Amino acid sequence: MADEAQYLEILSMNLDHFIETYFEIQVDHMKKKDKDSNKKIIPKLSTIILVVLFLAFIAPESSKLVSLCSAIGFACPSIFTAMKPGPFSFTCYAANSGHVIAIDPGHQAKGNSEKEPIGPGASKTKAKVATGTCGVATKTPESELCLSLGLKLQAELISRGYTVVMTRTTNDVNISNSERAKVANEACADAFIRIHANGSENHSVSGATALCQTKNNPYNGALADSSYSLSKSVLDCLVDQTKCKKLSIQQTDTMSGINWCTVPVTIIEVGFMSNPTEDRLMETDDYQNNIAIGIANGIDAYIMGQ
Ligand SMILES: [Zn+2]
Repeated sequence: MADEAQYLEILSMNLDHFIETYFEIQVDHMKKKDKDSNKKIIPKLSTIILVVLFLAFIAPESSKLVSLCSAIGFACPSIFTAMKPGPFSFTCYAANSGHVIAIDPGHQAKGNSEKEPIGPGASKTKAKVATGTCGVATKTPESELCLSLGLKLQAELISRGYTVVMTRTTNDVNISNSERAKVANEACADAFIRIHANGSENHSVSGATALCQTKNNPYNGALADSSYSLSKSVLDCLVDQTKCKKLSIQQTDTMSGINWCTVPVTIIEVGFMSNPTEDRLMETDDYQNNIAIGIANGIDAYIMGQ
């Protein structure tokens, strides 16, 4: 019996030891499993944090990123042009923080005669983008003059603290007028400045004018007042700065690039390329700088009046 009792005692001790050891192994295994699953969770968490940081800080700056890309002549991925400015902003400008200006240098190297609706849901169509006029004396295409002016205006506005979005920074593009409007819409621009130069069969006609929609525009008549105010400020300041002749503002609902806008818009016709004197003047760097300064002054006045 004594031996049997001793044997049972030893067996019981061994069993205890076995159970203790078994549970220790299980606990260790579970701890290890936890560590492994932590390893899997950590990358997931960091992805979520990165996405949140991107949406909070980078995406709102997308329009600045686009203008920065334009400034260095780099085609920005379209995902950034599609983003809207958000509630956060880490770039601080003194005067014009948060104001976005979209610039459309009119036309392009080659026009596109394919048709597009003149407004959202319109059955009436118009060529996607016209070739534009040409300098009677300089032979400069309107698209080149508009691009040169657009780039000068971009630099001027950036120096004043604006965020600038460009529809194009080269001549070799193919962007329809409705697509240009969408660039301004998607950037939630405070103002959309479409730069053009005029042409007339009467070569003595000169001066600047601006165009915008009427209150009866079926697509964006609600923007007629703000667009008229923008047109007036830009035209007045352009004339002040360049001393060119001031023509009256034209209100029209036939322009696709205006009708597709969901933001205040103006077409500024800076002068007549059919007038030899004005054509030669608009070719000069000094006069182009004055045009850019004049338009920027007009944008400042419009923004301050809002
Ligand atoms: Zn034009």
